[in-house]
Amino acid sequence: MKTILNYMNGELTPPAGGRYLDNEDPSTGKVYSRCPDSGAEDIERAVAAAEAAFPAWSNTSAEMRGRVMSRIADLIEANLDPLAEAECIDNGKPITLARKVDIPRAAANFRFFAGAIQHAASEAHMTDGLALNYTQRRPRGVAGLISPWNLPLYLLTWKVAPAIATGNTAVAKPSEVTPMTAFLLSQLCTEAGLPPGVLNVVHGRGPAAGAALVAHPRVPTISFTGGTVTGAAIASTCAPMFKRLSLELGGKNPNVIFADADLDQAVATSMRSSFANQGQICLCGSRILVERPAFEPFVARLVEGASKLSAGDPLDPATEHGALVSRPHMEKVLACIEVARREGGEILCGGRRVQPPGQRCAGGYFIAPTVITGLGPSCRTNQEEIFGPVVTVAPFDDEQEAVASANETRYGLSATVWTRDLARAHRVAGAIQSGTVWVNCWLLRDLRVPFGGMKHSGLGREGGEDSMRFFTEPKNVCIGMR
Ligand code: NDP
Repeated sequence: MKTILNYMNGELTPPAGGRYLDNEDPSTGKVYSRCPDSGAEDIERAVAAAEAAFPAWSNTSAEMRGRVMSRIADLIEANLDPLAEAECIDNGKPITLARKVDIPRAAANFRFFAGAIQHAASEAHMTDGLALNYTQRRPRGVAGLISPWNLPLYLLTWKVAPAIATGNTAVAKPSEVTPMTAFLLSQLCTEAGLPPGVLNVVHGRGPAAGAALVAHPRVPTISFTGGTVTGAAIASTCAPMFKRLSLELGGKNPNVIFADADLDQAVATSMRSSFANQGQICLCGSRILVERPAFEPFVARLVEGASKLSAGDPLDPATEHGALVSRPHMEKVLACIEVARREGGEILCGGRRVQPPGQRCAGGYFIAPTVITGLGPSCRTNQEEIFGPVVTVAPFDDEQEAVASANETRYGLSATVWTRDLARAHRVAGAIQSGTVWVNCWLLRDLRVPFGGMKHSGLGREGGEDSMRFFTEPKNVCIGMR
């Protein structure tokens, strides 16, 4: 059985307490590796290593930092197949998705920030000929980076890349549920020549290793992606310590389809935005709202597509629908489907655990793509994040009703709008309360744009300039001129 190790000061290190957690392949339900069950002592050692590396790394030229990061990107690309396989086994996602999306985007994160830091500018302002003000931006020290299990390598590197590009050093705590790609990344960092201590990876449980990192007095910056409840707990630790905090949290995203939309495109893309990664993407559109004249044809086609999307072995390149990440998560999603039934929802397809053909995945955690109708916007099913292959569909009569339903949730991460009416597209995009609105597309990302959520979906924005600002401290220098 493979043993994952922490990465500290450039070395692969066992956890101080010698304890490990079992790591399951969710497509088989079998344990295939073990991962450190680290605690406060490991976090202390990692922070010490990151602190020791900070003076040299923060004084390394942007060009040199960028070069090392570009080498990491090259190595991720060169190791596409083993990384994709590792993510597939760890997470249950189809290997084709890992190959096409997760791993290339992880490389892109390093490449993007390796370049962006070369072009970073700072502001200068003249004050009526009396003074010159300019802004120095300095790295803040050790950054604590906590990431979830759904896109493990992509979301980890989305934080690591801007943190180290701007001259910080980092301690990362990936999800214990999917630790393998972070472990492989730590080996690639050594191979790329990243100096020891610049990135440290501590594996373990959130309430132990994660909480110790958040509470560490010498970690002034915390970037967290995960659930809203965890985000609230982290915020309450960070607030009295005056830490800088970024929270990328949950979503309950509306997918609003007007009757004038290109229905072929809307159906094809809604299949992805509903069920990609088994619905375990924070940006999935889990509440589909369709203008009444298009409701029946849209729902018929969506249900037809969802019924054909059968679960398969995630290691098979032909598979489009894989396993959920763990047994507890599968049970949570099945319980949410039961709630929908109790609330009077009609299950149009799916709604149950399934098994892909063949023996290998007989014990895996698969749920059929599920479409539910007959529920109003305020019921639990339409209010709580399910984070699985489950969507609701409901009709609406006019634009006002669509916007009101779209906004009737405490979340505000993303939304999708389908229409050919340009003016309406702008109006509705402006009126929906969410950090991102996609019009006639979904999941297209430009790493320069601010990414994050409104309301309970988060705090702050990451991406491009926003990430580089987040990880640096601005200082105004005012030079008198008279
Ligand atoms: P969790 O909040 O359970 O966990 C996220 C990370 O936080 C994990 O590494 C976890 O460790 C750690 N953690 C858990 N408890 C604590 C704690 N008390 N202190 C510090 N760290 C802690 O989320 P999931 O992993 O279940 O991820 C799914 C959630 O993430 C969904 O709500 C989804 O919407 C959201 N998400 C948001 C995104 C966005 O950009 N807005 C993107 C992707 C996902 P461990 O797992 O080891 O316990």
